[in-house]
Amino acid sequence: MTTTESGSPAPVSGTFPVTDEEIAARVKALESLLIDKGVTSELAVDKIAEMYEREVGPHLGAAVVARAWTDPEFKQRLLDDATEACREMGIGGMQGEDMVVIENTGDVHNAIVCTLCSCYPWPTLGLPPNWYKAPAYRARMVKEPRTVLREEFGVDLPEQTEIRIWDTSAEVRYWVLPQRPPGTEDMTEEQLRELVSRDSMIGVGLVAAPA
Ligand code: FE
Repeated sequence: MTTTESGSPAPVSGTFPVTDEEIAARVKALESLLIDKGVTSELAVDKIAEMYEREVGPHLGAAVVARAWTDPEFKQRLLDDATEACREMGIGGMQGEDMVVIENTGDVHNAIVCTLCSCYPWPTLGLPPNWYKAPAYRARMVKEPRTVLREEFGVDLPEQTEIRIWDTSAEVRYWVLPQRPPGTEDMTEEQLRELVSRDSMIGVGLVAAPA
């Protein structure tokens, strides 16, 4: 049996990350089954995929972050009730009914995972990346987040920074308000949006200061 560095059994279904081919095969199988059973139709599946490809994506979350960085009252509303604050900006819907935003500070770094499956705030971050759904990410992120952040994502946090991992579920969909980088004081909300990456809102990346 393979073990992880902490000595516990490694996740059974393989390596990190899962390949695109594996995921495509699983999706295809599931889709066929759901269509066969009459749960959904091919048209509905295509429509949803198209919407998430073209309209919904991390650019919406980035707009929320940029606004929070520039408008303290909005930021407070976002931290108090993310679903409602996003709705103010016309952002919301399926898989985002109960969003909670947690703020990164100099002392605490937050990151999200769904240990059970792949729950994720779709309205603000789009569809989850493949690695987010991989068993190895889901298992290791809770056991050894500092190592995963450093080795898999190149985020080397100072020892004194506390790392908190939030287990996102179908009931509560967490995402992260990253720290505004220094040197951005003169930037507009529109310019700030461009800096904010998907990974920084998952908590596996930092927002880099502009070059
Ligand atoms: Fe899940």
